[in-house]
Amino acid sequence: MRIVLLGPPGAGKGTQAVMLAERLKYLHLSTGDILRENVKKGTDIGKKARAFMEKGDLVPDDIVIEMMLDTIKAGAKGKDFILDGFPRTIYQAKKIGTELDNLGMPIEMVVYFETSLKTVVFRLTGRRLCKNCGANYHVVNMPPKKQGVCDKCGGELYLRKDDNEDTIKKRLEVFNSQTKELIDYYKDKGILEEVSGDLDAETVYKKLFGILNDRDKVRN
Ligand code: AMP
Repeated sequence: MRIVLLGPPGAGKGTQAVMLAERLKYLHLSTGDILRENVKKGTDIGKKARAFMEKGDLVPDDIVIEMMLDTIKAGAKGKDFILDGFPRTIYQAKKIGTELDNLGMPIEMVVYFETSLKTVVFRLTGRRLCKNCGANYHVVNMPPKKQGVCDKCGGELYLRKDDNEDTIKKRLEVFNSQTKELIDYYKDKGILEEVSGDLDAETVYKKLFGILNDRDKVRN
């Protein structure tokens, strides 16, 4: 199945995408991760994207759309995948929708993670990532065994530059003004499902898994 995860920053999209992708052997395509990798490597995309990301603004549509289309065409043809954090504007949704329809691989399900402001701020300010493998931790909810060190690879953990209160506020404004309208857009297409992003990761995962099973039964 081809799935989009939609929700504000800190809703748990990335955590769920990793869990689902591992269990179902789906590809996990996170725009944020791909952009950060480009920034790290100093590519043209990375150079163009960096300032927008640091401010909490969206990277311009055309850059992100081209990057994601290239990624999908290169590695996801004929495969099941999860788009995490993409699309984030109506323009992106229309463009990627048309392109994927033309490739015969339309988006089949969109999950909206409805999440409170309190949860978002708590999750993002406590989030720590591994510099080496990208694994996700939380200082309270999901601490590593040894403080500051990744359980999986021993890499150093860091706080994302855009996970500070000011930038979080900006990213939430951006979500409300540019991304939220995708909920109705996909509802109208009849492919929207909703889960509460306030619940703990295991509970959300079980709910998602149930939804996926039901959808698959309908599809087969
Ligand atoms: P994320 O890791 O999903 O929180 O994304 C981090 C940052 O990457 C965002 O604040 C944006 O600057 C940028 N970004 C990620 N996905 C998109 C997208 N679909 N469109 C535009 N910018 C994006």
